[in-house]
Amino acid sequence: MGWVALVTLLLAVQVLLATALGVLVGRWRSRKGDASLDSETAAELLGQLQAVSEQLRHDVGRHTSQVSQHNKQLRDAADHDGAMSSVVAQLVEHILEDNENLQRRLLEAENRLSQQEQLISSHAQAASTDPLTGLPNRRALDEQLDRRLAETARDNTPLSLILIDIDHFKQLNDRHGHLAGDHVLREAAEVLNSTMRDMDMVSRFGGEEFAIVLPKAALQPAAHVAERLRKLVDEHRFDYQAQEFSLTISLGTAEAQPGESAASLLGRADEALYAAKTAGRNCTWIHDGQQCQSFAADGAPPQAAVEGDDVQWQAIVSDLQSSLASLKPGGDVPAGQ
Ligand code: GH3
Ligand code: MG
Ligand code: MG
Repeated sequence: MGWVALVTLLLAVQVLLATALGVLVGRWRSRKGDASLDSETAAELLGQLQAVSEQLRHDVGRHTSQVSQHNKQLRDAADHDGAMSSVVAQLVEHILEDNENLQRRLLEAENRLSQQEQLISSHAQAASTDPLTGLPNRRALDEQLDRRLAETARDNTPLSLILIDIDHFKQLNDRHGHLAGDHVLREAAEVLNSTMRDMDMVSRFGGEEFAIVLPKAALQPAAHVAERLRKLVDEHRFDYQAQEFSLTISLGTAEAQPGESAASLLGRADEALYAAKTAGRNCTWIHDGQQCQSFAADGAPPQAAVEGDDVQWQAIVSDLQSSLASLKPGGDVPAGQ
């Protein structure tokens, strides 16, 4: 290789390195403070940048060792050919030194990227987790629903959603204090999570409400899961500081219709939950796409939701029944039936 070609190659390597550094550090800096960048995209971007920088480091290493070899040849030639070769050899040496510096800085940039990636993933974890129960929070639920709905549309598989609300939770707080309430919420989260499949996502929807996304589950199987959970909670004895509590939950279940949005699916599951509350609590209701109806795992005939003024009356009667039950000696958090 002639010395002009060699110097050109070296300068090209330098430009490549400087550009890589500029791109990596520049993008890293500009994205660092970008609040609108969602954590998953940021982590993906960082992963890609790291892959690019690793490839660059590898290529540059290869070029540098080739150039070192040519440099040695040039030095040998300098011994014989005189001044011009000696100047070129010095120049090459100088550029090689610069290359090494740039390579070191590229490595530093790579390390910074990797630290940033860890930071982003721990922030992402915190941003999508409910601190009280450790369950995925509402934000994580929304992300999961969007992802699963897209999957359902693509693969033509069913997807169901169960909304759960603890019955008369306010009474538990009022009687035993907020800390007891917090403890019960944590325990309820564990009970709900304990028997679900890995692919199901149990999340805290807010307050004393939970939501479960069930991929590849149609309405009937999902309603059976809901009933199983209802019984599990009903039979569970919650305890806090030597006090025992009974708890019941009401559940609303719906299966995604073709092309349905997350908001609409949530709305229908919520309607079914509301019907379960109105029907007296501690029960499962489903929304079949048209209307709400009760669901019993033992095959009892479904009951249609009451409408209009009857809803108000049924809710009032149910609340009165609950209040009466709670006044009984030993009555704690009433099942409401
Ligand atoms: P219903 O059967 O109709 O659902 O009655 P409820 O009492 O469960 O529902 P309501 O909406 O009247 O009250 C919910 C209560 O949940 C009120 C609120 O203080 C309590 N709550 C919400 N979040 C938390 C929490 O993080 N910790 C505790 N201890 N209580 C909470
Ligand atoms: Mg509620
Ligand atoms: Mg409640």
